[in-house]
Amino acid sequence: EAYKRIALVTGGNKGIGLEICRQLALNGTNVILTARDEKRGKEAVEKLTKDYGLTNVIFYQLDVTDLSSIESSVGFVKSQYGKLDILVNNAGIVGHEFSKPIAEKINNGGDSSYILEVQAKLQAADLKFLAAMTIEPYEKAKECIDINYYGTKAMCEAFIPLLQLSESPRIVNVSSYFGKLEFIPGENIRNEIGNISTITEVRLEELLGTFLEDFKAGRLKESGWPDMSSAYTVSKVAVCAYTRILAKKYPKIIASSVNPGYVKTDINLNTGVISTEEGAKGPVMLALLPDGSSSGQFYDETELCSF
Ligand code: NDP
Repeated sequence: EAYKRIALVTGGNKGIGLEICRQLALNGTNVILTARDEKRGKEAVEKLTKDYGLTNVIFYQLDVTDLSSIESSVGFVKSQYGKLDILVNNAGIVGHEFSKPIAEKINNGGDSSYILEVQAKLQAADLKFLAAMTIEPYEKAKECIDINYYGTKAMCEAFIPLLQLSESPRIVNVSSYFGKLEFIPGENIRNEIGNISTITEVRLEELLGTFLEDFKAGRLKESGWPDMSSAYTVSKVAVCAYTRILAKKYPKIIASSVNPGYVKTDINLNTGVISTEEGAKGPVMLALLPDGSSSGQFYDETELCSF
């Protein structure tokens, strides 16, 4: 009989994360659905039990920016299972807010031609358009880097000892289409982050610090950073780079980063073009990669792609 894998998913209460939990559970994996909000998380687990008859999903409260919350979840997994097989770092936010009139226009759902226009622009990664309809306050940019990059890193560091006890450890870091290096305009920064033989976590984080300083000082463009959807892009590029570093550092663990696709969820005011069912396919495939698979790779949905 095949052994039962234990998976932990962050941001599992809704969107892609909830669907990753559902698909992993359907596959027979024991799933720990985590969420920063206890009520939302418990309701999500109840929904999976009620709607799909799944009894192998449990809830644990976890905010990826709160170290004591992370430590508590490590203690829980350790005492319950003694190991972890799969860690899916899905929790994430964008660094921008949609400007109010635009959010209202989309949320009201009345203006369908406008929604189609927004959809087409976002699908084409039209950053100018995105910039015109969003605002990117510094606090939000910082929070985005903190959750998307530092949250992911803190989770990996905390769970690696338990992952090392698994026969087939997997880490899946949910990145983005914008996680591709090409979205960093500055050649020097791009070359540095892209060079796996020289980049280190320390240097990566120095660069993130510089990015936030440049953001604050209003000199993103001249410093070689993206000046639109900037914190989100930088955070997701950093997640991909970190995944490559992890793969190198821990040869036993198969770590992957993935763009789930442009998925209809709250993060994009539900303007996405694919369902969460489609969007979860890549992350789930990577969570269940067979032994011997290549590590440190970046995937575009279920296809291998270059960083
Ligand atoms: P949602 O906004 O629907 O879900 C985001 C999830 O992350 C929520 O469960 C949210 O919790 C959780 N979260 C946010 N901050 C924290 C935190 N500090 N600790 C724990 N959980 C947190 O968006 P998606 O499902 O679309 O996003 C999932 C991932 O997919 C993100 O990393 C996103 O960047 C990525 N992605 C999404 C794309 C898309 O088109 N939808 C495209 C590319 C990448 P809460 O409900 O409490 O806010």
